[in-house]
Amino acid sequence: MPASDNMTGKQASNKIQAPQGMFDILPEDQPFYKKIYGTGEKISSFYGFKEITPPILESTELFEKGTGETTEIVEKQMYSLKTKGGDSLTMRPEFTPSLARAYLEQGMISLPQPVKMFSFGPVFRHEKPQAGRYRQFHQFNLEAFGSKRPIVEVEIIYVFYNILQALGIKKLIIELNSIGDKECIGDYKKLLVRYLKKNESHLCSDCKRRLKINPLRIMDCKQERCKQIVLGAPQIIDHLCKECHNHFKKVLEFLDELGLPYSLNPCLVRGLDYYTRTVFEIIAEDELGRRLGSLVGGGRYDDLVKLFSRKSVPACGGAGGVERIIAIMKERNLNPGETPEPRVFLAQLGDAAKIKSLKLMEDFRKAGILVAESFDRDSLSAQLKNADKLKVLYSLIIGEEEASRDMIIIRDMINGRQTSVKTDKVVGELKKKLKQQ
Ligand code: AMP
Repeated sequence: MPASDNMTGKQASNKIQAPQGMFDILPEDQPFYKKIYGTGEKISSFYGFKEITPPILESTELFEKGTGETTEIVEKQMYSLKTKGGDSLTMRPEFTPSLARAYLEQGMISLPQPVKMFSFGPVFRHEKPQAGRYRQFHQFNLEAFGSKRPIVEVEIIYVFYNILQALGIKKLIIELNSIGDKECIGDYKKLLVRYLKKNESHLCSDCKRRLKINPLRIMDCKQERCKQIVLGAPQIIDHLCKECHNHFKKVLEFLDELGLPYSLNPCLVRGLDYYTRTVFEIIAEDELGRRLGSLVGGGRYDDLVKLFSRKSVPACGGAGGVERIIAIMKERNLNPGETPEPRVFLAQLGDAAKIKSLKLMEDFRKAGILVAESFDRDSLSAQLKNADKLKVLYSLIIGEEEASRDMIIIRDMINGRQTSVKTDKVVGELKKKLKQQ
């Protein structure tokens, strides 16, 4: 996980460093990413999701229209640039608009529906860096286009839930809400605005602004004073039209059938403009049942595709935050799996021996035996010290004489015994020896 200073927002002006809020994924953290991607891929493929990798840069207009101009992401957080050709492009702040574009552009509308896809990769948001909030982070994303049935969003929730479980993350709760559709949300918004206007003077400055452009967002403001006001606000769930009400009822019934733990959160509205009906988050809980951060967020977005074409394509999806999942795995000592350690070390004296060793490494690679070396060292004792540190079982030594005779010394690192073999026999010999271990 990011450990460098740039994650904490500190940045020395005289040094070249990674951009604030962005970090190197160091070798020791790679197994976590591989494990999450591997588990995600295995489980979502099983449920019929196919992998798609959209470009990291997309036209700025895609996100302005798709994510929504009144959202925090579009207003404040996009990394946008003008190309030399004069195009306005943006580093994706989320996957969903890219996938809606790909669905239309690639003619997926003529495939059997729903079209279910998964993706992995970096996303970019110019947020204030803090623990668990980065400017470049990674998401594991699922989307399903072309079905309005509640079973499809339940399947997405189920797949995410199963991925987290398979990673060993056990204490999870699904928070859910329905924010209705264009019909019911319009009437509800009027009611909400009427209520909030009465309390406007107590709202934070952001919410005063939201009241004019996106009043629903006030429902999930993190400021204590706004939270207090929201407690008394009308709840959308009581104002859903019949279709939205029945849809949400079905979602809850399916979750019950699957035995998934969920709780209704009337303040969950999610930050993006395109959501309709079901919105959800999957949250990790600690031993005492206290809610830790959100690991996955998503929902239904039946009106998004319509923003880019005349076609009405109901859809739903969600995204898991890879760094947040890694943080929980680390906190709970969930090991992503051992990285294999070399059991053989190749030591050599002189250039002829070094080049022979390099050739030999390829034979070991093909035989599936991991071999370490330190080509940069000349002295044999320094190389063997290195072998000791790595705790290998055997060292192979090619001195100048061995190189000229095409021989290799095999040194047993436990008892110090040495034997000589022909170079072309060494891989087979080592295979035998390692099998006996
Ligand atoms: P969103 O795309 O905002 O719905 O977020 C989906 C998931 O991505 C969240 O549940 C978090 O796990 C993760 N996430 C969102 N924003 C950030 C961020 N700035 N840094 C790290 N993870 C994030």
